Amino acid sequence: VAPVVLPLGFVILGILVAKFLGVHTLFWWGLLGVCLMASLWKGLRFWPIFFLFFSVAGLRYGMLSDSYRDDSLKGLNGQTMVFRLEVDETPVATPEHYRFLGKTSQAYFGQRWHPLQAKVLVYSPQYFSLHSTIQAEGVLDELSRKGSAYQAKGCHHFYFISKAIEEKNRPFLSWASQSRESMESWFSFSLLAPYDSLAKGIFFGDHRQIEDNVMDEFRVTGTYHLLVASGLKVALVSLGIWFLLWQCPFQVRLVGAGLAVLGYAFLIGPEPPLLRGVLMALCAAIALLLGRGRDSLDAFLLVAFILLLVNPFWLFDPGFQLSFLSVFGILFFFEPLALKLSFLPKWIADSISVTISAQLPILIPLAYYFHTFSLISPLANLLVVPLSAVSMFLGSLSFGLSFLWKSAAMMVSSCHQVVLSLMLWIVKVCSEIPLAYQSVSTPNLLTIFLFYLSLVGLWLIKTRQGKILFATTSGLLACFWIRSFFVSPPTRITFLDVGQGDSAILSIQRKTFLLDAGGSPTETELDGFSVGERVVVPALRARGVNVLDGILLTHPHLDHLGGMLAVLQHFKVKRIWLPDLSTPSPLYKTFLAEAKKCKIPLLFVHDHEKIQLAEGATLNLYWPEFPLLHGTHSDLNNNSVVSQLEIGDVKILFAGDVELEGEKALLNHLHPKSLLRSQILKVPHHGSGTSSTEDFLRAVSPRIAVVSVGEHNLYHHPSPLTLKRLRKRIPYVYRTDHDGTIGFELLLDERTPRVKPIPESVSQ
Ligand SMILES: [Zn+2]
Ligand SMILES: [Zn+2]
Repeated sequence: VAPVVLPLGFVILGILVAKFLGVHTLFWWGLLGVCLMASLWKGLRFWPIFFLFFSVAGLRYGMLSDSYRDDSLKGLNGQTMVFRLEVDETPVATPEHYRFLGKTSQAYFGQRWHPLQAKVLVYSPQYFSLHSTIQAEGVLDELSRKGSAYQAKGCHHFYFISKAIEEKNRPFLSWASQSRESMESWFSFSLLAPYDSLAKGIFFGDHRQIEDNVMDEFRVTGTYHLLVASGLKVALVSLGIWFLLWQCPFQVRLVGAGLAVLGYAFLIGPEPPLLRGVLMALCAAIALLLGRGRDSLDAFLLVAFILLLVNPFWLFDPGFQLSFLSVFGILFFFEPLALKLSFLPKWIADSISVTISAQLPILIPLAYYFHTFSLISPLANLLVVPLSAVSMFLGSLSFGLSFLWKSAAMMVSSCHQVVLSLMLWIVKVCSEIPLAYQSVSTPNLLTIFLFYLSLVGLWLIKTRQGKILFATTSGLLACFWIRSFFVSPPTRITFLDVGQGDSAILSIQRKTFLLDAGGSPTETELDGFSVGERVVVPALRARGVNVLDGILLTHPHLDHLGGMLAVLQHFKVKRIWLPDLSTPSPLYKTFLAEAKKCKIPLLFVHDHEKIQLAEGATLNLYWPEFPLLHGTHSDLNNNSVVSQLEIGDVKILFAGDVELEGEKALLNHLHPKSLLRSQILKVPHHGSGTSSTEDFLRAVSPRIAVVSVGEHNLYHHPSPLTLKRLRKRIPYVYRTDHDGTIGFELLLDERTPRVKPIPESVSQ
């Protein structure tokens, strides 16, 4: 075993203990002291050193997370503040704002500037490019629990900009971003429509302009990594130069490859995945200089060791895990596999072995983060990765030539376009092969553990123990897989955090239903934020859904309907229930046309209807009544579907967007009123002031209320008065803007049926 494996293992263990047990820093200091003394003590040499690494890693994690708990901004909470700050990540478009991480350098208060260094999550009405410095006025406040991904990056406050101006950039960084921008505009100029955005995605890892369905094809074929900044790009750049300079002496090739890597990193900016890639490339170069074989594994492990001591948080970063595991796979499985395939020509055998050995260990993270199990992935990567290298080469060549000889540059560009179109075509064909990929639900800890144990067995397959290990673990995995076909999964209702809007997923006995799909104003725009694409579709995938047994649309308002288009495009839908309401909204027309195109039956519902969702599970429809209400505050809201899920004794009421006119009419029309009684209430109309009247709440008298609402929404939902009414009557009031996605498991086989809130990680 390589000598770095054990220290690395102890570092990882230290980080895990620090994270999950939350041990105090003092403990780590104490352990460190004991280990130091013990390792200096004669005769006790081996173990203390490993525990030294263990405690250093734990200490580093503890100290970093302490320093992230900075209080410098505490006194400014809730205030309107002026900051000077730097844009620290590429802004992401959300429905209402651009969102990015910013580093403050100065704050203005008490009539003068004060130095103040902190990280804030910025919501800005304007777009600013990466690394630009801005002076902004806005409101500062503390991040709620939802920001935990940002808290890991050391950010505990958000900053809501009302106005901002850009200051002069730092010369070096602005030069980098200018060169990048001029390269991007060269791509836009020289390549035709879908290809320019693809080229930008491949070169810069900037995929915001690529259409969602194309992104999806890359995702399901396991080639998505080509469109993000990754260590692989660095490897491609350095290898490309290495082979281009094949005639030159060894040192020249090495220097050339090194310069190319640095230049590339300069263009893209200091993003962690690229920095890791640069380090790994450096390592590979050192290993090359020192000789091959075992050394490369050592060098690689050493890089991981250093990286994790520098920033222990990277252990939980999907990009780090993916690149680390795939390199690990190549190091362990490439040689034996290539040997097995030695009957093939060498270059074919090598490429196949590289792809398979890199893909094997990342099956689990891919299932965990992207919910896909792609059988086509090795083949697709085998074909597309070399093409991406060619594309990067042709792109930089044409850009370089464009300064010297325009027409030659255009000729290179047309070659580039052919390569890009070939790439798109391959990805499309691969994604369309039946059974090429499968949506899978999030794997559990036991599965993850067994899977990696079986990989260890596979690696040791030549030995007796290896054979036994591999056979037992893969046998157990197969058993679990088969068992999942016979054991009925728990019944669950999940209210998704779709921002301003409604969306809930209902899973009953292997069937999945969707109630509304959220929606944002930029839903159908090309580079706008789509709730359907980004929230609803991934949440359905996380459940391993390939087919939806039914969709209920409560009413055709944007915040309920917007995400539907994405859902219809990604899943086979058996039927759609909806009220017979007419609206001139173009979105609704598009939705109806899409449903017709997909041949999905549209079933218009009315009150007194009972829909059998599954055995023992019915959906009782109580509203709208005919004739529909007219001339109310909002006719679409007041005629929205009010339905009640009934499973055994558990009842859940989905109240759509009805307002007081609707609630009142519903109560008058329903006999007996006790029919409405339910344990869980999806609060009508996002908790607005015009809904949830006392009478209505009394009739339903739920134990749990869920308010589905977006943070800082334009309508100022939920109303404080309504919240007060809810809290007075209902013991548990959840809201998606503060609590995130909220799931409930329906425990039906117990004597008294009840509902149990489940943590976000399970329900997502
Ligand atoms: Zn609504
Ligand atoms: Zn509405």
